[in-house]
Amino acid sequence: MRTLTVLGSTGSIGVSTLDVVRRHPEKFRIAALCAHSQQDRLFEQCLEFKPCYAVLGKRESAVELQERLRQAGSLTKVEYGEVALEKMASLPEADTVMAAIVGAAGLLPALAAARAGKRILLANKEALVMAGAVFMRAVKEYGAELHPIDSEHNAVFQSLPINYSGDFLGSGVERILLTASGGPFRNACPDDLHAVTPDQACAHPKWSMGRKISVDSATMMNKGLEVIEAHWLFNIPGERIDVVIHPESVIHSLVQYVDGSVIAELGNPDMRTPIAHALAYPERIDSGVGPLDLFAVGQLNFTRPDADLFPCLALAYQALYLGGSASAVLNAANEVAVQAFLDGQLSFTSIAKVNRMVLDSAPILPINTIDDVLQADSLARQAAFDLVSERRIQ
Ligand code: NAD
Ligand code: MG
Repeated sequence: MRTLTVLGSTGSIGVSTLDVVRRHPEKFRIAALCAHSQQDRLFEQCLEFKPCYAVLGKRESAVELQERLRQAGSLTKVEYGEVALEKMASLPEADTVMAAIVGAAGLLPALAAARAGKRILLANKEALVMAGAVFMRAVKEYGAELHPIDSEHNAVFQSLPINYSGDFLGSGVERILLTASGGPFRNACPDDLHAVTPDQACAHPKWSMGRKISVDSATMMNKGLEVIEAHWLFNIPGERIDVVIHPESVIHSLVQYVDGSVIAELGNPDMRTPIAHALAYPERIDSGVGPLDLFAVGQLNFTRPDADLFPCLALAYQALYLGGSASAVLNAANEVAVQAFLDGQLSFTSIAKVNRMVLDSAPILPINTIDDVLQADSLARQAAFDLVSERRIQ
């Protein structure tokens, strides 16, 4: 029996995680469910999964939820705020932590899970993008276990040798090929993208996801962040990580070996597959995802990403090569720019402009501690806010 804390339980990954857990009550139980503001959904989840703890962002809503749960006969104890998230990530009674908070807010709880030596199911790619060196050091030092949830990285994990320890040359690995659907605008002209609305950007053709990552998929910043994530997870230099547009999203990523073999993981595009894989590893369990019907798929296509259409992808490689705080800077600028786009304050094409201006102007400093990361994040966030609020970018 594995006991889980789910960070971000009300989000797209959180809900899919609970759907897999629901299918296997004999294998998994829930110690804590953590969310930010969706009180009603968290209330329902608490009644169904009976966690010891639940967490919300604000005190008032936590008090309200506690009262509703009490009246419903639930014994769940409700806490609130960032400190509670770190506490839930390191609960002695939980052996496994699903890290599925979106954005930089997920970093400290994920790091707390690493420092508590947990089995971490990592969906929050931002933890590695912002603080790859610090996070991977903590995983090693405290004997934590890292299982990638991002479908591409989970596919790479499955395609690497069992017990791969980061020695890519010794394992005969030549390259990693990350697949990308290309998002909703893969066939658009760069000039047509200026007037794109948030709903158009979030209408992903293949995957159903939260709004932030959906916009990142439309700009392909998501794939850029995934290149950085793959670098840290598998100890592979950026020049050995390629991005391939594969609109069917059936091949979730590939590993190319020196002997010419290419090993890939295929399946229907549904996050419950990587979630079930990581939850039960090394066992295989039912995820609720239907079998892949290759006859219905018919054809698989592959193209190179268009650099003019997807400028954010090159920015991510640039940040990876710059090293130090560059990836944290880019991630922070992008979070601010995407939020401004979702709030109607910035055009779609200006997301890349904000990202570029902040990355080109922010000081890139060495990262030794988590405080270095948080400082770089906060300065870059401020620089991006200034650009957006002064309307210096059209
Ligand atoms: P989402 O927006 O659907 O859900 C986010 C969750 O995080 C919610 O439960 C929300 O309550 C919580 N949250 C948000 N801000 C918070 C804060 N400040 N403090 C505490 N909790 C907070 O996002 P998602 O699509 O589920 O993505 C979650 C993470 O997984 C992201 O890092 C994303 O990049 C990654 N990921 C998602 C998918 C996908 O298919 N959705 C695929 C791969 C990776
Ligand atoms: Mg992905």
